[in-house]
Amino acid sequence: MPELPEVEVTRLSLADRIAGARIESVRMGKPLRWPLGIDSQRLVGQVVQRVRRRGKYLLFDLDQSVLLLHLGMSGSLSFAASHPEAGAHDHFELFTTRGVLRLNDPRRFGAVVHSSSERHEPALKLLGGLGVEPLTDEFTLEAFHAGLKRRSAPIKQVLLAGNVVVGVGNIYASEALFLAGIRPTLRAAKVSRPRAEKLRIAIREVLARAVAKGGSTLRDFSNADGQTGYFQLEAMIYGREGQPCRVCGTTIRAIRQGQRATFFCPHCQKS
Ligand SMILES: [Zn+2]
Repeated sequence: MPELPEVEVTRLSLADRIAGARIESVRMGKPLRWPLGIDSQRLVGQVVQRVRRRGKYLLFDLDQSVLLLHLGMSGSLSFAASHPEAGAHDHFELFTTRGVLRLNDPRRFGAVVHSSSERHEPALKLLGGLGVEPLTDEFTLEAFHAGLKRRSAPIKQVLLAGNVVVGVGNIYASEALFLAGIRPTLRAAKVSRPRAEKLRIAIREVLARAVAKGGSTLRDFSNADGQTGYFQLEAMIYGREGQPCRVCGTTIRAIRQGQRATFFCPHCQKS
């Protein structure tokens, strides 16, 4: 599943090239998770001003409105001068003066949604509940710790919920909690200020490293057939149940939290 780093790398791969492109036509495939919300013909003639990201949404700013694009579970986005003929899983294409933006999404949990602005519906509904962006200056210790103090759920689930800090998916939450030495089951409100700071730094580190890694493989992953590759960190903890901790050698344990697998080292993450 594309996580924040993959979405950010996707943005970086096309933002400069598509900025200034005028939309010439739109092709819609099978229905996606949510409807576009506008007659696609009304997009024709509009110019893509820039591409931003909020959480896992890409925001394509048009002249007077915004297109929100989510990759869902299996989506990938490519932008190229031309593409091979659309396949069965290519469900949205924006033909522009600078190239063709194509969304490939076999499971169709992704979506492209039109909104008059990000402060109006339907964008407001999709973006309104999102927490702070972890890779911006707004992700301060004050904001983070204050957010954690208001939540009694386990820290890992609070991270995944995305309403304190956005875009920390299952892998990245597990890795960051390991780096910060925090047990994933600890209640968020019980995370002390110094430990919140360790966790804040760890979250930034794992996400920034993943973006950097994706950025360095950008050439490979926006390859000729237009498939976006996903990339993972060399995990310290995630997926390593039963294996020795890379720091202390203790056997890594796995538990379930809210239907999701959680991994931790009982020694390095005592509480
Ligand atoms: Zn350990």
